Amino acid sequence: MKTLKIAIQKSGRLNEKSVEILKNCGLSFENYKSSLIATVANFPLEILFLRDDDIPEYVQDGIADLGIVGENVIIEAGADVAYLQPLGFGKCTLKIAVQSTSDITELSQLNGKAIATSYPVILQKYLTENNVDAQIRNISGSVEIGPGLGLSDAIFDIVSTGGTLKSNGLKAFKNVMSSEAVLIASKGMELNPEVLELLQRIQSVLRAKA
Ligand code: ATP
Ligand code: ZN
Repeated sequence: MKTLKIAIQKSGRLNEKSVEILKNCGLSFENYKSSLIATVANFPLEILFLRDDDIPEYVQDGIADLGIVGENVIIEAGADVAYLQPLGFGKCTLKIAVQSTSDITELSQLNGKAIATSYPVILQKYLTENNVDAQIRNISGSVEIGPGLGLSDAIFDIVSTGGTLKSNGLKAFKNVMSSEAVLIASKGMELNPEVLELLQRIQSVLRAKA
């Protein structure tokens, strides 16, 4: 029997819940802060602990058979993977925000404007669908400071409470996408008997919670 590999986030917002759901499936494994890989004692499975950004590609390329990662990260990576199950945690919304003093009320007013983001693919798709021609400034973090520095007219980012927006003189303008953690598989692995067994266990953990 082939040992499956599942990639989960090593540390960050999805790590704890990802470990928890696997433990609740009855999987027995050691979870040391320093480990990059753990072997499950009672199921043919190894757990790879990775940065979330790397998970979609690992699964697409079959280096991992399964993965748990935010939908936003999968779509941004453009990864071709099978979606098996939304997991009900890691929920967030990606929004366009503008300066609180801004008089922008229509999407069309973003034409010719600069938008700072770490999610250029998702943003470009949305702008194209809405016939907006804006300049995307791809920066890897702290996009909220962009407008105050004159780097951008708007930002596109994950917004949870709005507190970060407010403290940077910004306000939410458009919700573009909502996201949660999902279980994904390499294309073709969806029908593997052990994958199906694991999926069933995850689904009953989710049902017991609901
Ligand atoms: P890594 O070190 O693995 O690259 P990261 O810093 O990119 O981690 P986290 O901040 O841990 O990522 O967020 C992981 C995922 O959690 C996000 O991609 C998103 O799907 C989800 N998420 C839920 N709420 C939030 C939030 N308030 N801010 C950021 N991400 C959130
Ligand atoms: Zn990341």
